[in-house]
Amino acid sequence: MSTITNHMPTEELQALDAAHHMHPFTANGELAQKGARVITRADGVTLTDSEGNQILDAMAGLWCVNIGYGRDELADVAARQMRELPYYNTFFQTTHRPAIELAQKIAQLAPGDLNNVFFAGSGSEANDTNIRMVRHYWALKGKPSKSIIISRKNAYHGSSVGSGSLGGMSAMHEQGGLPIPDVHHINQPNWWAEGGDMSPEDFGIARAQELEQAILELGEDRVAAFIAEPVQGAGGVIVAPDSYWPEVQKICDKYEILLIADEVICGFGRTGEWFGSQKLDIRPDIMTIAKGLSSGYAPIGGSVVSDEVASVIAQSEFNHGYTYSGHPVAAAVALENLRILEEENILGHVRDVAAPYLKEKWESLVAHPLVGEAKIVGMMGSIALTPHKESRAAFAAETGTVGYICRERCFANNLVMRHVGDRMIISPPLILKPEEIDMLMDRALTSLDECYAQIK
Ligand code: PLP
Repeated sequence: MSTITNHMPTEELQALDAAHHMHPFTANGELAQKGARVITRADGVTLTDSEGNQILDAMAGLWCVNIGYGRDELADVAARQMRELPYYNTFFQTTHRPAIELAQKIAQLAPGDLNNVFFAGSGSEANDTNIRMVRHYWALKGKPSKSIIISRKNAYHGSSVGSGSLGGMSAMHEQGGLPIPDVHHINQPNWWAEGGDMSPEDFGIARAQELEQAILELGEDRVAAFIAEPVQGAGGVIVAPDSYWPEVQKICDKYEILLIADEVICGFGRTGEWFGSQKLDIRPDIMTIAKGLSSGYAPIGGSVVSDEVASVIAQSEFNHGYTYSGHPVAAAVALENLRILEEENILGHVRDVAAPYLKEKWESLVAHPLVGEAKIVGMMGSIALTPHKESRAAFAAETGTVGYICRERCFANNLVMRHVGDRMIISPPLILKPEEIDMLMDRALTSLDECYAQIK
């Protein structure tokens, strides 16, 4: 057993990591060959690795560190809460102050009558809650056959068996026997990749109407809910055409099905509003939350539920819960995070400063020979890499995954950008300053140039 020290050389850390640590969503062959990048510290929007590199984190970790790294206030609150009440559960008619206060705060921030919070430890768990809650809701209303949840291909809703089934990632469905029964996937509103000759607006309507077709084919009496991210994140920051969401909302209103907005990425300021649903004028019955709720400083998620759904669920015992539902330390950290977001007017900074400047710069990337489209909503953006902009063509297989090549160039230039196939995506901390946006853009452009030179 080796003692891990701050001075241990990177290769030794990597060797120990490779020997014992199984990584999530990681190309294991490459990991064995190259070793993992070892992150040692972080402050603001900057990561430091074990080699001393200063890396601009344009992904805010995994889309979560909304207030940026290094906020001592959250550490202080966590330490205080650990001393006072490090753990107690919320089962069996028990509660505690952090859970009460956080539920109340979320209810205050959430739109409409979304006044009720069922806590979980993560977004995946919260979506598992949603599966059981919407089916139980309809059963309590005397309609137990309404059990199908409609979702979208290329959606991401988590990695547990339930939430991974809700997601529409075929690579995930290929492993471990997913999806579970009674989940149905319709096509995504990804105009760049799938819009063909249609205008974006016509395509948006057509893809929304697939929801109606699915409801009619499956039977209204069989469909419990539709779940979607306001802006698809892990699928490649796919921003639906403007026509899409109004049509989806109309269809949800017309038929008796619940609308679940998965706000795990869009929530807590990323779009410039507290929730993506407010930005896109969506009226959900349930919202899934996690990530930005605590800015990733502590694991916590939840389902924010309408008064109508919650009142039905409250008719009897809901046989569901997690050991860490409403964990007092995570709840206290989340409350402090929300206080900072609110008191420092970080949403105002997004709306008035960061997002407009980033949008202007980001959209100018379409001038680059590799970039076909540039999309951005608030502080989440994507570019589509293409060999031929007019036809929106994909790269030939022998070129390799150009997004991957570009991502590697970004790492080499001390920038974390992610790729989804040949889409490059960003989701930086919301506190990003204009000069940091300039740095991000410089490094992104250098990386694109190097990628272009490499594949020519
Ligand atoms: N929903 C969405 C939209 C997500 O992006 C994610 C994670 O990326 C999840 C759910 C799952 O959250 P977690 O990883 O906390 O389980």
